[in-house]
Amino acid sequence: MQRISFRLFIFLFMAAAAVIVAGVLLYWQQVSGILERDVKSHVAAASEEAASDFNRLIQNDQQVLESIAITVEDTYPWADTVNLTEFLRRQTQHNYFKLLGVITEGGDVFLSSERSFSPVFITDVLARTLEEGNYLSVRQADPADGKDVLVQAVLLKKQGRPVGALFALQEPGRYRPLLALSAMGNKGYSLVIERNGEPVLGYRSPRFSNAFEELSGVEFDGEMTPAALRQAVREGKHFMVGFRGPNGHRFLHFIPLQVNDWYMVSALPTTYVEQQARQLTYLSLILFLSIFVIFCALIFYTLHMRAYSNRQLFATAFVDQLTGADNFNRMCEQFPEKLAGLNGKAALVIFDINKFKVINDLHGYERGNQVLQRVARVLRENISPEECFCRSTADNFILLLKYTDRKSFRSRIHALATQLRRDCTVEDSCLMIDVAFGVYEVTEDIPFYIMLDRAHLALENAKKMSFDKCQFYDEADRKRIVAEKQIENTMEAALDHGDFSVFLQPKCDFATGQMRGAEALVRWNQAEQGLVKPDDFIPIFEKNGFILRLDMFILEEVARLLAAWKVKGLNRVPVAVNFSRLHLNDTRYIPQMLRVVDKYDVPHEMIEVELTESVIFNNLERAQNVINRLHRLGFSVAMDDFGSGYSSLNVLKSLQFDSIKLDKEFLSGFENNPHAHQVIEGAVAMIKSLGIQVVAEGVETSEQADFLRHTGCDLAQGYFFSRPLPAAQFETLLSKTTSAQ
Ligand code: C2E
Ligand code: CA
Ligand code: CA
Repeated sequence: MQRISFRLFIFLFMAAAAVIVAGVLLYWQQVSGILERDVKSHVAAASEEAASDFNRLIQNDQQVLESIAITVEDTYPWADTVNLTEFLRRQTQHNYFKLLGVITEGGDVFLSSERSFSPVFITDVLARTLEEGNYLSVRQADPADGKDVLVQAVLLKKQGRPVGALFALQEPGRYRPLLALSAMGNKGYSLVIERNGEPVLGYRSPRFSNAFEELSGVEFDGEMTPAALRQAVREGKHFMVGFRGPNGHRFLHFIPLQVNDWYMVSALPTTYVEQQARQLTYLSLILFLSIFVIFCALIFYTLHMRAYSNRQLFATAFVDQLTGADNFNRMCEQFPEKLAGLNGKAALVIFDINKFKVINDLHGYERGNQVLQRVARVLRENISPEECFCRSTADNFILLLKYTDRKSFRSRIHALATQLRRDCTVEDSCLMIDVAFGVYEVTEDIPFYIMLDRAHLALENAKKMSFDKCQFYDEADRKRIVAEKQIENTMEAALDHGDFSVFLQPKCDFATGQMRGAEALVRWNQAEQGLVKPDDFIPIFEKNGFILRLDMFILEEVARLLAAWKVKGLNRVPVAVNFSRLHLNDTRYIPQMLRVVDKYDVPHEMIEVELTESVIFNNLERAQNVINRLHRLGFSVAMDDFGSGYSSLNVLKSLQFDSIKLDKEFLSGFENNPHAHQVIEGAVAMIKSLGIQVVAEGVETSEQADFLRHTGCDLAQGYFFSRPLPAAQFETLLSKTTSAQ
């Protein structure tokens, strides 16, 4: 994801840079084009204005001269020369002329101020004026100071006959402001030239003698050539042309003037345009760059924020906030990839801390959390990059580890357990944490949650161990669990449909072989398997509590049978009913029992209660209490499976049992074990010494029967005498003994 963002960023950056470069180039071109057009029209407008101003100024001066001429003509034949000179002097003051003069047809000269002109100048001015009517020239040097002057002259007439010329000297500087092209930032200037190219007037004094010669070496824009230029001027054309000379590119505007066939030529260097374009482009570039920088910053910020929020999202979605380890979601997500990375040579491990709740309760949540954090740290240290782990719930961690063989894996887990116990123990307390591991070696391609179930199953088994709390998943375990589930799913219906029935096994007198009692044993009649023995389902019912209902059902069956036998007039024998240890904790036990037995009006001494040894040992006080109450109600009580657990004499002494049933195990291997005889003899003697009846269970052979009889054992129960029988068969047996009496 990060990589994609980076690529996207680079792509956007390049794209933006390309757009900007293209934009700037295009902009430059556009701006230059626009400016060039703009400058051309400016040059045109400004130079045309200068030309018309120039025309107007010349015309104006001409008119002024003509009006002065009228007065001068009136005073013809200029007898009073003093008055004439005085008049001319006044006129110069009013009209900005440098000098005014009158040349008579006779060659006499009257001037507004003292000056001497060469006879050539005088005859030339007079001749040209007489010839043309008026005369205009700048190709004259002022005899007073040698500077160029503009000579302007008009014809003086009397009665229609030319009598002389009135002339004025103008300073060229008077026209120069018109030639400055000030609108172009003083970069441009205009010239007045003659059609042959000779300069007449310039903003500065022209430094060349002929404009066409000056332009002969330059490179014109477009089709224009020096010859064509000369021709165009000769024809009096009004035009504009660009050229590149030693000082760069310029535009020239040629405008014919109304004076003397003169031309006004305006020039402007293109650098002015370029400068303007550059300035504008620089400004725009700065603007573009600013936008680009802001744009980049925005992209960067957006990417940064996106990465940040992704990290945040990842943290909340995939990280366990307490330990910083992956959480279950993350584990689920990366599991397939990790498993593939291990080439399937992997084991899924679940472990939890035994009695973690105790740590919380005793040391507070703070300490509990600390322990979990340390566990996560230890796991992190012990895990290679190709493996992974997560904290799934409170103290439950799931690991996916590399697996080669069971032996080395087991030793790795042992080392891990040792480190966990060492490093994660709560400080200031002697409380050692204890961990259990359930391992599923990945052998099948099954979904993750099924692997987890299997590891969980192994963990359940591990927790039951007192040491080596690392158990591997076993297929038999799964089958067992499935079978257990099957039993749990069908037990309720089985009870309702009467699939549970009572078998009765006689208890016989050793001495006479007479039946003295019987034990009720439950059977489950299952459709597919037929009769199922209690060992397959009683432990499950004890776990889920169903045994409480089943025992009461058996008791009721027994009570019903006893009532029926009475009705049939049979010699009834007491029947022992097995009661689970769970009844001892149930206050409803005795009231329920009474209700069932009394419902069938069965005498209480006909019912014997069998309680297993382990129950009594675990809850001595409660057992004592229950036994006493049963006794008071007239029921007899037997201790079942004596010798299978940790029976102690103390128990026998403090509890008032009516009988004790020696566990079948006493007789197993009886034939080959010389000590067995002594043990049984001792046990029987000890029990009898307490005045308690002894019942031997699991008597299968005549040798066992003979020996037990010899030890003084009271009653025998076993296949040698009778197998557990269905109620009908037992009833037949009962009727036989009844009739035998
Ligand atoms: P238990 O109370 O020790 O019952 C005696 C068991 O020994 C019976 O097994 C019986 O069939 C078997 N047995 C009798 N004679 C011989 C013999 O000569 N050799 C051998 N090998 N076995 C013999 P069963 O019926 O399978 O019952 C197993 C256990 O199930 C019982 O052991 C008892 O603890 C429990 N159980 C049976 N029915 C009930 C019941 O209704 N309620 C409760 N809570 N537990 C019951
Ligand atoms: Ca029993
Ligand atoms: Ca028993």
